[in-house]
Amino acid sequence: MRTVIKIGTSTLAYAGGHLNIRRVELLCKIISDLKNSGMEVILVSSGAIGMGCGKLKFSSRPSDMPSKQAAAAVGQCELMYVYDKLFSEYNHTVAQMLITASDVENEDRRRNFTNTLNRLLELGVIPIINENDTIATDEIVIGDNDTLAATVSSNIKADLLLLLSDIDGLYTADPHKSKDAKLIHEVRELTDEILSLGGGAGSSLGSGGMKTKLDAAAICMKSGCDMVIINGSKPELLYRIADGEAAGTRFFAVK
Ligand code: GLU
Repeated sequence: MRTVIKIGTSTLAYAGGHLNIRRVELLCKIISDLKNSGMEVILVSSGAIGMGCGKLKFSSRPSDMPSKQAAAAVGQCELMYVYDKLFSEYNHTVAQMLITASDVENEDRRRNFTNTLNRLLELGVIPIINENDTIATDEIVIGDNDTLAATVSSNIKADLLLLLSDIDGLYTADPHKSKDAKLIHEVRELTDEILSLGGGAGSSLGSGGMKTKLDAAAICMKSGCDMVIINGSKPELLYRIADGEAAGTRFFAVK
């Protein structure tokens, strides 16, 4: 099974931008185990800007472009250092792939990206993808890694995209505000009712940015790839998904 796993900043780091060591160690251990069991794994990892802010001791996420890009440049090194170190413990090799919107929009560049990625998988390597934040400007930015992960999944014909978030899945209402909010286990069609649960920009359910996750679901479902949102604070859920059990919210590919 070819699986893309998207790890969000909130899963990787504490609010101040420092690495959540216990969680990341467990995640890398479980992902290594799943790879040993035969799963083809591609990671899409956020965290460059967040970890860069932590390392540069910024008190909050900067709003100006040069500072954000400087933070990304510092944080991306830290991120890959951590992944390389942890996956090496389980005898796995990682590779960094940084892309921008033009790399997936332009046919030649998209083919190069896909060829390299497929070759890395043949070589048994775990590709780790992020947006190239240090050069991405407003004009060429994909913007969020949910969309990036869905675009990658559809290009490389993945069977499954797993979004590790800071929320258990898609709820019928904001679980932080409503006690009656219920987790939706399965979505087979993106109806207006489902799409309305994404909220507008900045008013998503929980803090997980549900709007971009629903956009990602639309890309995946159309391209024949299932997508599951699970809570990244419970990495053991990855085993349940691999065993075909239900967890979080699953969006089924349109067959
Ligand atoms: N590429 C950004 C980073 O690594 C994250 C974008 C996102 O989280 O959606 O900080």
